[in-house]
Amino acid sequence: MYIIDEIKGFLENNYPKPLAKFRLRQIEEAFFNFDYSNFSQISVLPLDIRNLLDENFAWLSLLEVRMFASKNADTYKVLLKTDDKQLIESVLMQNKRGQWTICVSSQIGCAMGCTFCATGKMGLIRNLKVHEIYDQYRFWQLWLNQKAKDSKDASIRISNIVFMGMGEPLANYDNVKLAINKLLEYTDLGPTKITVSSVGVLTNLNRLLTDKDWPAVRIAISLHSPEAVARKKIVPTSIPGFHEKLIAWSQDYAKAFRSRSHHVTYEYTLISQVNDSPENAHELAGFIAKTAISKVNLIPLNPVAGTGFAAPDLARIKKFKDILRSYNIDVTQRKTMGDDINAACGQLAVSN
Ligand code: SAH
Ligand code: SF4
Repeated sequence: MYIIDEIKGFLENNYPKPLAKFRLRQIEEAFFNFDYSNFSQISVLPLDIRNLLDENFAWLSLLEVRMFASKNADTYKVLLKTDDKQLIESVLMQNKRGQWTICVSSQIGCAMGCTFCATGKMGLIRNLKVHEIYDQYRFWQLWLNQKAKDSKDASIRISNIVFMGMGEPLANYDNVKLAINKLLEYTDLGPTKITVSSVGVLTNLNRLLTDKDWPAVRIAISLHSPEAVARKKIVPTSIPGFHEKLIAWSQDYAKAFRSRSHHVTYEYTLISQVNDSPENAHELAGFIAKTAISKVNLIPLNPVAGTGFAAPDLARIKKFKDILRSYNIDVTQRKTMGDDINAACGQLAVSN
């Protein structure tokens, strides 16, 4: 049983408050020192505290249940068990330059119910706690360290974190924010190496504009359709006037974060015969023209069994991309990685 709040309570019961606070910080710092794998190694702590911590708390709040590796060994997916025996998934991916990105979950399941998404089909079980979010990073970093020892693999540093696993990060705003702030404090990652992807929870998108504790991370918005009725069919939580409100938000975002010169990425999952026509591409270009500093990321659908949706063929994807480029829009296409282990976006659901 490990919960940082419990450790805090434990320290406060045993030591004067300032000392407890000092010790807690030393422990949190040690959590991100990957030479350590248990409390007894934290040499700055007195031996009696180390022993007590080892007896009462686990080093990591998430327990590995099963690991899946893609055939070409560039993607790994892990099934992790929480304290209360819930299961979450987390993904590690290596790009061609050898850099590792982790895709973390923010909730167990998701309440948003997007019709093409495997997590959406689960419904929401609960929000992840702060330490359950940052422990996905700790899990993968410990795992990479071990892998490096076993195979003399030189590249062990996680260089990017994307909140594109299970759940809607902005529906778990406070915990996601705190977890990111801890990661920024204790790791060498800068804020631009972290991306929060949201289906577009406008109240919280607006909240972060004036929240002085909101970190300067990158934001990606899952748009999926430039038109209200079509979007509502695949994103049932889409509210009336969403596109207009999002345009207004993007202007405010650009103003609020001008010094950060941050772009917003609009994610667009391409679904055959749903949102992949040339007309849709022109309409999307029209939408993007009204937003401030934008990029588009096209994600070919990873078909989820039972949804009836299919991915467009390659020619249609290319056509869609070419139309957007003809408007000088900065377009990228998500590389399909890990789909042989259901580790691709939208395939994270703990039924398999
Ligand atoms: N809830 C957040 C973050 C998690 S989903 C969000 O919706 O943005 C991360 C990305 O994967 C989103 O853009 C989402 O629309 C996309 N996605 C979900 N299911 C998918 C699927 N089956 N195929 C391709 N992309 C999918
Ligand atoms: Fe939730 Fe994102 Fe899936 Fe929609 S796409 S159901 S918001 S995880």
